[in-house]
Amino acid sequence: MMTELLQVSKWNPEPEIISRAAEVIRSGGLAAFPTETVYGLGADALNPEAVGKIYAAKGRPSDNPLILHISSIEQAASLVHTNAEAERLMRIFWPGPLTLVLPARENIPLRTRGGLDTAAVRMPDNPIALALIAASGTPIAAPSANISGRPSPTDALTVYHDMNGRIDIILDGGSVDVGIESTVIDVTDPQKILMLRPGGMSRELIEDSLNMRLELPGTISIKRSPGTRYKHYAPNIPVIIWKKDNDFPDININSAGYIGIAEPAYRIGKSIIFHDTANYAHGLFAGFRKLEAEGVSCIVAEWPESSSGLGEGLRDRISRAAGG
Ligand code: AMP
Ligand code: MG
Repeated sequence: MMTELLQVSKWNPEPEIISRAAEVIRSGGLAAFPTETVYGLGADALNPEAVGKIYAAKGRPSDNPLILHISSIEQAASLVHTNAEAERLMRIFWPGPLTLVLPARENIPLRTRGGLDTAAVRMPDNPIALALIAASGTPIAAPSANISGRPSPTDALTVYHDMNGRIDIILDGGSVDVGIESTVIDVTDPQKILMLRPGGMSRELIEDSLNMRLELPGTISIKRSPGTRYKHYAPNIPVIIWKKDNDFPDININSAGYIGIAEPAYRIGKSIIFHDTANYAHGLFAGFRKLEAEGVSCIVAEWPESSSGLGEGLRDRISRAAGG
C-alpha cells in the first residue's frame, strides 16, 4: 500500500485535503491525523472491518478497546448513554484531552469497544481532527498512530516512520500540543467516577469541577480497561527511573541517555533537559525515540517531582516505559 503524506494547515485546514482523508475514512480505510494529545490512527468507528485494519496496522491486541473521536457534544448521545455528570464534564472540558467511558449503545460494533458493554468517547481539541471527523460524517476510532507498545508519535514524520505502507494517508498538521494521551475516566456510575488512565487533563481540574474525588479502579474495572494491562510507550532499550534526590543509577554514563528537568551532576552521554513538567510531557515520547536513534545503551528518566497537573500522566508514561 502507498501511504500519502499531506501537509495541512492547522488553523485553516484545506477543504480539499480534508475531503480526501474523509473519503478514505468513509470507504473503510485508515487515515492518521493530529490531535492535541498525540497523532491518531483513524478508521470509521461504526465499520467493524475498518476497525479491524487499525488492530492489524498497529499489531494491537484485539481486546484493547478504542476511543471514539467525535466533533460535537451532541454526537455523544448517539453513541453512549450519558448522565448529568458526564454532560457537565463534556461542557467544561470538550474539546480537550478528557475521554469519558459510558454505557455503549448497540450501534457501536463490539470490535470497536473490545467486546465491552461500555465505550470511550472524546472530542479532540485540534481543528484538523474536528474538520476530518465532521467531513467523514461518522465517529472516528483512533488509538495512537504507532506500532503497538512503542512511544506515541507527536509529529507526522514519526507516524510515517511507523506506519508507511500500512495505512492510506497521513495528515501532517505539525507538532501536537500536549504530548501524552488523554485522561480516561469511567463515568458509568456517576456516584463513583473512576480514573482509568491519567493523561493530558489533570485530576485536580476534573475533581474541582465535579466537587468529588476520582476513585482508583478496583480489579474488576481494571479488567474493563484492558489497555492498562499492556507494556506501553517503550523504547527498544531499557528505561531506568531516577529520583532527583537519590543516587544516580549505577550505569555507564558515557553510553547512556538522560531525559528530565533536573541536570544530573554527571556528564551523561546524551541528555535532553526540559524547563518544566508540561515541557517534559510534550517532549517525552519524541525524546525517547531520539535517544534510541542516537544509539544510547539505556535511558535514565527523571521521576517528576510532583504528581499535580501533567505530573500524574507523565509519571504513568515513564513508569510503563520502564516496565511498570
Ligand atoms: P489508546 O487508544 O492506546 O490511547 O488507549 C485507549 C485507552 O482507553 C486504553 O487504556 C483503553 O483500555 C481505554 N478504553 C477504551 N475504551 C474503553 C472502555 N470501553 N472501557 C474502559 N477503557 C476503555
Ligand atoms: Mg497508544
